[in-house]
Amino acid sequence: MATEETKAQAAAEAKPKEEKQTNCLSCNKPIKKIRRYYRDGKYYCTKKCWLSFIKKSKTENKE
Ligand SMILES: [Zn+2]
Repeated sequence: MATEETKAQAAAEAKPKEEKQTNCLSCNKPIKKIRRYYRDGKYYCTKKCWLSFIKKSKTENKE
C-alpha cells in the first residue's frame, strides 16, 4: 500500500531535531546503548560515572 509508506515517511521526517546526548557527562566518552545509565534526565556510561559526576558537581558547588 502506497498510502502507508507515505505515512511512515512523513512521521520520520516530522521528528523534532533534538540533539541527543551521546557522551557521558562524567568521562565524556561516547555512551553505548547497551551499557548506558540514565539518571535525572542525563545519560552516563555507568553508575560509577554518575556517582563521580555527582561528587564532582558537589565539590564545585562548595568552592
Ligand atoms: Zn562515563
